[in-house]
Amino acid sequence: MNRGNRIAVVGAGLGGLTCAAFLQREGFAVTVYEQAPAFSRIGAGIILSANVMKVLRRLGIERRLLEAGISPDAFVSRAWDTGEALYEITLDAASEVRFGGPYINVHRGDLHAVLETAVRPGSIAFGHSLVGLEQTGEAIQLVFENGARQEADIVIGADGIRSKVRDILLKQIDEKQRAQPGRKVEDRTPEERDPSRILDAPAWNAFCQTFLRGA
Ligand SMILES: Cc1cc2nc3c(=O)[nH]c(=O)nc-3n(C[C@H](O)[C@H](O)[C@H](O)COP(=O)(O)OP(=O)(O)OC[C@H]3O[C@@H](n4cnc5c(N)ncnc54)[C@H](O)[C@@H]3O)c2cc1C
Repeated sequence: MNRGNRIAVVGAGLGGLTCAAFLQREGFAVTVYEQAPAFSRIGAGIILSANVMKVLRRLGIERRLLEAGISPDAFVSRAWDTGEALYEITLDAASEVRFGGPYINVHRGDLHAVLETAVRPGSIAFGHSLVGLEQTGEAIQLVFENGARQEADIVIGADGIRSKVRDILLKQIDEKQRAQPGRKVEDRTPEERDPSRILDAPAWNAFCQTFLRGA
């Protein structure tokens, strides 16, 4: 992938910030577009297990997360009605060695605040709610509710469970299907069903594969 590509990440949630931080470390010019006017301390506790901590360690934020969160002594799964312990994992120095990282509980707001420090200052555009994506030659125009338009070479949808990016992308695919009456979705060859093939479609330079797999 060309380092000169302008990358737009839609959504400054947990996924968007993490994605942007890694891409920026690789030298890409990344702007994150977030619909909210600012970050606010909402939500409850988030469990970050060793596999997540190992990834976030590579962003250099493990220490700050350990300071922001708490390290439980154990993970206990209980039956909902009796409270009986069904299984328990002891979390200690030995488990940290075994799993390759610590296991913490952190408030979502604190996790967000720490993740934000991993993103280049000034690269999050708040108050930008994506409403449309338009192909203009090789580039993509991002259209926002506030009337702004921005151009990017690659758009990554990280806009959560009600993803607008996913809606736009799937609508395009639906329209393509409808343009071929007599062909049902099931008629597609395995190659045509491959999400990575959709990503290569000339109409769209790139989209976050996570959404395609989750769709
Ligand atoms: C109650 C609860 C408990 C959970 N506990 C855990 C846990 O313990 N551990 C764990 O790993 N996971 C947990 N999860 C799951 C975790 O929260 C999600 O997997 C994670 O938040 C998904 O990240 P995301 O970046 O895809 O979406 P989000 O974090 O939801 O971020 C999406 C962002 O996109 C923005 N956005 C949306 N639409 C637009 C638009 N049109 N234009 C611009 N911006 C837009 C939103 O404002 C938001 O900031 C929990 C989830 C819930 C609901």
